[in-house]
Amino acid sequence: MIFGRRFGSSRAIRRTGISESRMIERHTELVRSIQLIVGDENIIEEPVLHIDGSRPTLIARPGSAREVAECLQVCSQATAAVVPAGRMTWLECGNPIKCVDVVISLERMRRIVQFSPPDLTATVEAGVTLNDFSAVSMRERQWLPFDPPGFGSASLGAIAACNSSGALRLGFGTPRDYVIGLKLAHADGTESKCGGQVVKNVAGYDMNKLYVGSYGTLAIITELTFKLRPLAERISTMMVSSRSRRQLFDLARRVLASELQPASVVFARRLSVSLTTDWPEEALLIRFINSEGAVEHQVDWVTRTLDETSFATVLTPGDADAVWAQVADFDQQEDIRVRLSVPLSAIPSEFEKTVLTHLECVATADIGAGIIRMAFDGDARSAVDQIKRLRASAAAADGSLVIERAPVEVRREVDAWGDAGSTAGLMRAIKARFDPKGLLNPGKFVSGT
Ligand SMILES: Cc1cc2nc3c(=O)[nH]c(=O)nc-3n(C[C@H](O)[C@H](O)[C@H](O)COP(=O)(O)OP(=O)(O)OC[C@H]3O[C@@H](n4cnc5c(N)ncnc54)[C@H](O)[C@@H]3O)c2cc1C
Repeated sequence: MIFGRRFGSSRAIRRTGISESRMIERHTELVRSIQLIVGDENIIEEPVLHIDGSRPTLIARPGSAREVAECLQVCSQATAAVVPAGRMTWLECGNPIKCVDVVISLERMRRIVQFSPPDLTATVEAGVTLNDFSAVSMRERQWLPFDPPGFGSASLGAIAACNSSGALRLGFGTPRDYVIGLKLAHADGTESKCGGQVVKNVAGYDMNKLYVGSYGTLAIITELTFKLRPLAERISTMMVSSRSRRQLFDLARRVLASELQPASVVFARRLSVSLTTDWPEEALLIRFINSEGAVEHQVDWVTRTLDETSFATVLTPGDADAVWAQVADFDQQEDIRVRLSVPLSAIPSEFEKTVLTHLECVATADIGAGIIRMAFDGDARSAVDQIKRLRASAAAADGSLVIERAPVEVRREVDAWGDAGSTAGLMRAIKARFDPKGLLNPGKFVSGT
């Protein structure tokens, strides 16, 4: 951090050894250079934006991959810390960033570059939202099967950068499985491409896999090519309730061990959703996405398998949409949300423990993917203690815990990702190779990379 209003502070001057007037001069130079790249109307100086307690001095809104790279080159020359952004709905994820000078927002980059229904592929600029893309692809009965938290307004660049997934993960995998090509702008202002526009094109290392899920700490994704899925004939969601939670977990286990192919098997607790039918305190949701006949057969199988304590309803399409939207974004009221990943066999016991520690928590268990998500409130001190306890419990079951959302004071106390163990050195080496000055989302990722 070397320029701008904040950098005139005595602390910054002591740290950098640069005089206040020189810092302001550098800041002015940087703003002018970025202005020349993106145009006056596409910068916001001194925005009202706080990211993990830091304030950027500038938001730049480039209109093309070339402009993104040019902005990065200027930032690199000025040693200015950069936060890449899509729709800016989830900038405070991961560990708190150490500092931010410039936010590079891709919100203007919303072009669908190419959509080829016969090949089931599409190339989009990174600022295209999932909603906007779906509106186009659905006309050809094709889709990207993503439903991560906040998916309505999320940009595809950010979904890929965070490899964000939701309840469709069991049936369809994660965004990492769908990215077949990327265009990137690197920290030093160079550009590169990896993968391509056809489904089978990987020889050697598949670099897409490295960038997807790196949380914008290695490069800015400017363009993505996805493979798409054909839309199935039918989608049915069954809501199963029972007096016994154990019966519901047992039913889930039998469904997963059978020849059925559910797209989602999720246990939900205390979701707040209003439906045309009664919504119980706890329910098992089973979603099938397939041909008419296959869905009918599977719904029938589940109905026949129910014991006398359980009751199943096939939700109307409207109710099903409302329920799955709530499964994705169940933590509207709570401050803290964590994700535990545990072996499938440990899901029922871990869920019991999780619920017992937080009687008031809202929680979901993606039983087929081994993921428990829970949201709760609490002051920073007790939240830190709870997270540490839950993490220790997950570790004892050979699992892990990631903080998905928490106030910055909590994430300063407890690492969002947990101890990376022996891979920490590798993570740091990769960061040092891709971003030697440590300018992209500094400190956000695993092991403070
Ligand atoms: C309330 C809420 C809760 C969420 N919870 C979760 C969760 O628990 N788990 C989860 O996986 N996802 C979560 N998400 C994220 C979500 O699933 C999408 O990843 C998100 O909505 C991104 O949309 P965005 O365009 O606003 O991203 P932004 O908020 O703009 O960016 C999100 C992150 O991606 C980086 N980024 C954005 N664009 C790029 C790019 N082009 N290249 C490189 N890096 C980039 C940013 O630096 C930032 O770190 C949540 C979102 C919301 C709104």
